[in-house]
Amino acid sequence: MSAIYDRVALIGLGLIAGSMAHALREKGLAREVVGYARSEETRKTAREIGLCDTVYDSAAEAVAKADLVVLAVPVGAMGAVAQDIAPHLAKGTTITDVGSVKQSVIEAVQPHLPEDVHFIPGHPLAGTEHSGPRAGFASLFENRWWLLTPLPDSPAAPVEKLVGLVTAMGAKCDRMEAAHHDLVLAVTSHAPHLIAYTMVGVADHLRRVTDEEVIQYSAAGFRDFTRIAASDPTMWRDVFLHNKEATLDILGRFTEELFTLQRAIRMGDGQQLHDYFTRTRSIRRGII
Ligand code: NAD
Repeated sequence: MSAIYDRVALIGLGLIAGSMAHALREKGLAREVVGYARSEETRKTAREIGLCDTVYDSAAEAVAKADLVVLAVPVGAMGAVAQDIAPHLAKGTTITDVGSVKQSVIEAVQPHLPEDVHFIPGHPLAGTEHSGPRAGFASLFENRWWLLTPLPDSPAAPVEKLVGLVTAMGAKCDRMEAAHHDLVLAVTSHAPHLIAYTMVGVADHLRRVTDEEVIQYSAAGFRDFTRIAASDPTMWRDVFLHNKEATLDILGRFTEELFTLQRAIRMGDGQQLHDYFTRTRSIRRGII
């Protein structure tokens, strides 16, 4: 494939930026892929494994002359990073981010950016429970959704160019409004992570009673269901702190449903349980 951007600067060199570096370089989608991460150890590892053409010791150097800058740091760090790089951005640069929350990232980033750059927020719906510069791989985005939440005044051409890049990395691209994104993701990703973390906490209580049995006899349900509870604590702390309203809304609804089922179990209402599971099974089977 031919290069879509000249110089892509990845800020934060973890799972998502690392996967982008692999995909961009393998597919030849940028003439140059450069990077920066705050931690010296991450920069050292990134250099050792040859993740980028160049890894810089400052974000300013990394973004200079870039025509695409990708912010791939935890959601709570986006604003400070934007402030740091803003004076060094070339006119006409596109800036995107990969944060799991969109409204708060827009509020934190947008005020720092000069008017002559194009900010197009985004979120790849792809990930694993692993993190750091060694965790990335080129096929992470293949056949996964990559949502863009362009601002009302985002010009069409830079948006189309970014859509071209994410689809060339193998993703399916869709656009939506930031608030809607945050509500949808609270249901499909954020609340499930919180519930998985909680379930591991409950198992830990029980482990103190049953010694090692919870781990030893960990059935597929527990293993499958709690895999995501091994995800990065900093990233998830930031997601909940920055998608507060939508997550609390969904958790409120979740608690109501849970109480309904709890009551049905207490009352021995098999019909209600059966009806509920029949309905939810049919919904779940419709999700590939
Ligand atoms: P990660 O922990 O693997 O990597 C984050 C990187 O950012 C690390 O290299 C860290 O050194 C660096 N960093 C942290 N603070 C920084 C700062 N102030 N300046 C510069 N670098 C800094 O995380 P990840 O999974 O790649 O997540 C990155 C972003 O992508 C997050 O906003 C997250 O919400 C989003 N995201 C994650 C997933 C997922 O499943 N992991 C999926 C989609 C989107």
